[in-house]
Amino acid sequence: MKEYTIEDLKTIVRPELGQEVPLLLFRILRIIGMRQILGETSGATLYMVGKQVGNMIGATDLADFQNKIKELKVGIPEVEVVDEDHLVVKLSECITCAGFTYTGEMFCDMESGIIAGMLETIYKQKAKSTQTKSWSVGYNYCEFEVFLY
Ligand SMILES: [Zn+2]
Repeated sequence: MKEYTIEDLKTIVRPELGQEVPLLLFRILRIIGMRQILGETSGATLYMVGKQVGNMIGATDLADFQNKIKELKVGIPEVEVVDEDHLVVKLSECITCAGFTYTGEMFCDMESGIIAGMLETIYKQKAKSTQTKSWSVGYNYCEFEVFLY
């Protein structure tokens, strides 16, 4: 199986439809498709996918991190640096859960991984992100606790 880079994906020839896709399609693939295929391991697997993606995207500093997350429309991030190895990332308008009804479970694992992966490239340390808030558990934003180690 060939491995592709982000550069390999950048040429998009869709003169009529353009580069955008409906967010609903993303959510069908992400919340229904991937979770059903991956089953109970979907959280851990999607987190690992996100981490690799976050490493590939990378960021030079927190301003670059915030710009890229917003440009890619993953959401609108606000970063609180709690101390040298602890950050809290609040994500408004999360690509996966914004507007979601209360279900009692959180499932923004891929987004959590993307955040961790990008922060790793800034701090040159490993990062572990854990989702602590989501629309699906009654908030109107998403939040992630990130520890560097
Ligand atoms: Zn979310």
